[in-house]
Amino acid sequence: MLSDKSKILYERAKEVFPGGVNSPVRAAVKPYPFFVKYSKGAYIYDEDGNKLIDYVLGYGPLILGHSNDYVLNKIKEELDKGWLFGVPKENEIKLAEKIISYIKPGGKIRFVNSGTEATMTAIRLARGFTNRKYIVKFDGCYHGSHDAVLVQAGSAATEFGVPNSLGVPEDVAKLTLVAKYNDLNSIESIFNSYGDQIAAVILEPVIGNMGVIKPNKNFLWEVRKITKNYGSLLIFDEVITGFRISMGGAQKYFGIESDIVTLGKIIGGGFPIGAVVSKKEILESLTPEGKVFNAGTFNAHPISMIAGLSTLEFMEKNNAVEKASKAAKILNELLLDYGIKYTINRVESMMQIFFTEKEVSNADDARKANKEIYSMLHEKLLSKGVFIPPSQFETIFTSYEHNEDMIHYTAEKIIELIRGT
Ligand SMILES: *Cc1c(COP(=O)(O)O)cnc(C)c1O
Repeated sequence: MLSDKSKILYERAKEVFPGGVNSPVRAAVKPYPFFVKYSKGAYIYDEDGNKLIDYVLGYGPLILGHSNDYVLNKIKEELDKGWLFGVPKENEIKLAEKIISYIKPGGKIRFVNSGTEATMTAIRLARGFTNRKYIVKFDGCYHGSHDAVLVQAGSAATEFGVPNSLGVPEDVAKLTLVAKYNDLNSIESIFNSYGDQIAAVILEPVIGNMGVIKPNKNFLWEVRKITKNYGSLLIFDEVITGFRISMGGAQKYFGIESDIVTLGKIIGGGFPIGAVVSKKEILESLTPEGKVFNAGTFNAHPISMIAGLSTLEFMEKNNAVEKASKAAKILNELLLDYGIKYTINRVESMMQIFFTEKEVSNADDARKANKEIYSMLHEKLLSKGVFIPPSQFETIFTSYEHNEDMIHYTAEKIIELIRGT
């Protein structure tokens, strides 16, 4: 892969940004990040003239691929009318109504600017609504970059979380209890000890931030049951799964209703967005109707609103969920045919390859897979014109734009490279 220009740009970037990037996973691209020039459809074109089939897709939002014409034209029309007002605009109601029509419990919604803000707001809302202090998260689930969720399991003897970033106070981390994904004993034991003080359980109904990990058959049901029994709220963090595994997200897909849903990524059509959805009784606790504070200069940003609205409209008319899923399904099947010893986890258009022969059903399993082989595969695929995430702990996404030729080519290259090692 030609990379002279990217190399020079990366040297400059390192002078001005920590690690040369503005979000850490971007620095994991090997041997150093390539710099994008433009993108269209399933392709990214970089500064050195390389053309790459993109399976990263902005880490999830771009289910329609890059620069979809319908969305692009709607954004251009909107831009001509101005782009920030500090007063409401009709499009935010239209996007809200559309989202609420798909996402249960679908009473009301608050738009914020990122998935991080959505989970931060949802957690505050749950605490405010229940007047309880603890939250429960699962090892391996990612909910953004705020203090309450930058927490990992402490010593085996206790469920209290400990910070997994410098700068998160221990006292804050302690309010987050950490359970094991797909492990009912672990969640039951936490509820036995602290159940009546737990405001909410937050989880990714399909993990997309530890590679891809599926919930076991009864896991989501049991978590639903136990939260209900103790009067705790269940927060489905559907920032990735919302409008990706089905238009109604994981709730529709698995037939389970949570109390609060957080959204982001796809609903902004590639522009910054986050959202909290809940039944009216709960969501009305947010300011100005209630007393749980949330505010934002850019909340319901007009360009994010039109990008999200036109993305969802296009998805409805063109079966984008099914089309993206089909691409991943074919890729998955082609890789299986060759009988190579790895584990592939896939839910619709989310998948990941783990270099282990064992099942991967929680964060520990994922950590035990061979990351070095994965990372090498990432690097070598770049030179073949294929961009998969640089980290084992991200998701390979397919889009509406990934056609069978691209998928066959990609499968061929993956098999060649793995056989070569
Ligand atoms: C990406 C992601 C977030 C954070 O969203 P940002 O927009 O990056 O802040 C939260 N939860 C999940 C499940 C995510 O995948």
